[in-house]
Amino acid sequence: MPAEPVVQSLTANVTAYLQLPGGWFLNNAGWITGPDRTLLVDTCATEARSRRLLKAAGPTGNPISAVLTHAHGDHAHGAGLVAAAGGSVMASAAAAAEITTGPHTHPGVFECSTWGDIAPPEHIDTITAPTHIDLGGPSAEILPVPTRAHTDGDLVVWLPREGILFTGDLVFADVTPLALHGSITGWLETLDWLAGFEATTLVPGHGPLDPHGRSLPAVRAYLQWLLDAVDGTDHPDFDALETRARALWSDWHEPERHAANLRVAHAETHRYPPDVAVAAQAMLQSAGGPIPLAL
Ligand SMILES: [Zn+2]
Repeated sequence: MPAEPVVQSLTANVTAYLQLPGGWFLNNAGWITGPDRTLLVDTCATEARSRRLLKAAGPTGNPISAVLTHAHGDHAHGAGLVAAAGGSVMASAAAAAEITTGPHTHPGVFECSTWGDIAPPEHIDTITAPTHIDLGGPSAEILPVPTRAHTDGDLVVWLPREGILFTGDLVFADVTPLALHGSITGWLETLDWLAGFEATTLVPGHGPLDPHGRSLPAVRAYLQWLLDAVDGTDHPDFDALETRARALWSDWHEPERHAANLRVAHAETHRYPPDVAVAAQAMLQSAGGPIPLAL
């Protein structure tokens, strides 16, 4: 079983919520607390995990709103609980469209019996431009990512006064990034954009806090390697490349993701639409079958 969530105060008003080691569906979240309102950044994968997060974020009795960095279920499945408690939920338009047609649990890929009530909210406020959220003292900037990256519809939450950036899954720390649903080239561009914030603390989507920004060059090197590994060859030896990736990033969790990522990289470098189902199947083969989730 995964370790207990880590609740880590970053400042008097900003808290990171880390579910380590950060593999499948063990995402990070956090919150910014104002005198009479709390803004949650992301929720969790299961009802029980999201309720626990909401309880940790809400001891002051403040009403809680949530901003979702993207549509993936580990970050978004608790949004219905936020709405049921009277809070608003915000996400990019693309993420909102995907979330409200969910929940998406991918039963052919994952085995999980503990989702609980993860019904999506009926309504999500869409973020289409940089949005300032005033919490009556502390404030936050919600910034849509300019291009497709980890998904089609990522956003980040930036706290300029504190130098804290909630990156969502644009940054994975010590966990293999998942590039199945976005654009690797767009993600690389987005890493440059993220570096421009000069944040002093990154809260990655998965894995431990990154106080020195070391994850940015690490994710960059990996994504660039994916593209370089398959560029110039029509029929790459995916198995050999996966073995190479597992050796190069041997300390990263969830190495079966290399199999999917390499196929997406091949599609991008050869300019054809990636077949997500084929890439997911390659990942399952690498994992030895459907992936059991102990959530
Ligand atoms: Zn994600």
